[in-house]
Amino acid sequence: MDERLEQTYQEVVRRNPAELEFHQAVREVLESLGPVLAKRPELAERKIIERICEPERQVIFRVTWQDDRGDVHVNRGFRVQFNSALGPYKGGLRFHPSVYLGIIKFLGFEQIFKNALTGLPIGGAKGGSDFDPKGRSDDEIMRFCQSFMTELYRHLGEYRDVPAGDIGVGTREIGYLFGQYKRISNEYESGVLTGKGLGWGGSLVRKEATGYGAVFFLAEMLAAREDSLEGKTCVVSGSGNVAIYTIEKLQHLGARVVACSDSGGYLYDERGINLECLKQIKEVERLRISVYADREPSSRFVPNGNVWEVPCQIAMPSATQNEINGRDAATLVRNGCIAVAEGANMPSTPDAIRVFEEAKIAFGLGKAANAGGVATSALEMQQNASRDSWTFEYTEERLAAIMRDIHRTCFETAEEYGAPGNYVLGANIAGFVKVAEAMEAFGLI
Ligand code: NAP
Repeated sequence: MDERLEQTYQEVVRRNPAELEFHQAVREVLESLGPVLAKRPELAERKIIERICEPERQVIFRVTWQDDRGDVHVNRGFRVQFNSALGPYKGGLRFHPSVYLGIIKFLGFEQIFKNALTGLPIGGAKGGSDFDPKGRSDDEIMRFCQSFMTELYRHLGEYRDVPAGDIGVGTREIGYLFGQYKRISNEYESGVLTGKGLGWGGSLVRKEATGYGAVFFLAEMLAAREDSLEGKTCVVSGSGNVAIYTIEKLQHLGARVVACSDSGGYLYDERGINLECLKQIKEVERLRISVYADREPSSRFVPNGNVWEVPCQIAMPSATQNEINGRDAATLVRNGCIAVAEGANMPSTPDAIRVFEEAKIAFGLGKAANAGGVATSALEMQQNASRDSWTFEYTEERLAAIMRDIHRTCFETAEEYGAPGNYVLGANIAGFVKVAEAMEAFGLI
């Protein structure tokens, strides 16, 4: 990293102590920006980089709620409105016990560049809570969501800030959040949240979008190497929204997915994952994936196992940040992995990325590969604004076109800056330039 960027990074670390994931996300972007500053020094003027690293607004609030026994719980809610140069703030809400400010800031920071890459008019934000939804009843989830929204609503709006789902927040939670927003504001403002149910303003393909989009991006990376998904053996981590629809699209395109996981271990099915069974367990019954092994004799569940030890040609991390370390990456490469596309946000550690780069495998980083989710959220906003609803085929084609565009932008930017095939550099530079140009146009705000 050049000296000036290193100084900026050190200042970010000093000003945001103990926020390790945020430091990691900033470092990854700044490490890519040397070539762009050499070529376009005007983009570093007037402290654009320092300004991009500082959120426009950070809200932290108390969320008090009662469980089914009447016991009172106190959680912490967050919304970090990071950058609105390109449009209203946009980014998901995460409910997970590991959530703290550093996680929300890393996710919000990534979201700025991801949203810029989609080419759609959306700024970057992220929010959530350290609430743990696991084992909670529907009523408890509802009461938590209502309490959370009772504070958050004043910061939201179709033209201000539009949250969506993330870990622990799916259509059920968006329903409770939207219901409470509607009740407090006395307005049916469909465009204030995305990921809504189909009967009340949601978009077809939104549920599938992150996973499908990641596979479209992967297919483009393979096509650039004159290869395809046909017949490839794949491993997908996680078994939530992103993982399930990643598996579905991989299967549509002729690949075989032999393993997926959750925080309790991994599932291996030599005949390929039976998606119908997985959906029934995760989406309908809301159970753990270990149950799958009781229902499918060709499979086994490995408690506490490391899913990256399963040999594969394609790896699609779709669970959480830093889930692939340097050792896992080396195992993947040794076992013949030729491509990694990140459905999750920042799932590969810096060491892992170095291993992938040295091995010259195709590596699609999250802010490019998983941008299909937020892109389709923006399509949901377009449909809400025009009181329209598009067909599945049309919406999927729009998503596919956006992912092709993102791939082309990253690919061409990497070539332009002398690093062909380096999607990390291409995505970071292309996203940064778009945001920096808009910030420059707005003057010192
Ligand atoms: P989800 O439906 O809640 O599923 C999360 C999955 O990841 C679950 O299988 C969960 O297992 C596993 N997981 C979560 N935290 C873990 C941990 N610390 N260790 C091991 N496994 C863990 O969430 P999702 O929406 O699929 O999100 C997955 C990833 O995709 C996240 O990184 C998210 O930021 C990213 N992403 C999501 C979207 C979207 O549209 N939803 C868009 C872009 C990026 P357990 O059930 O055992 O916890």
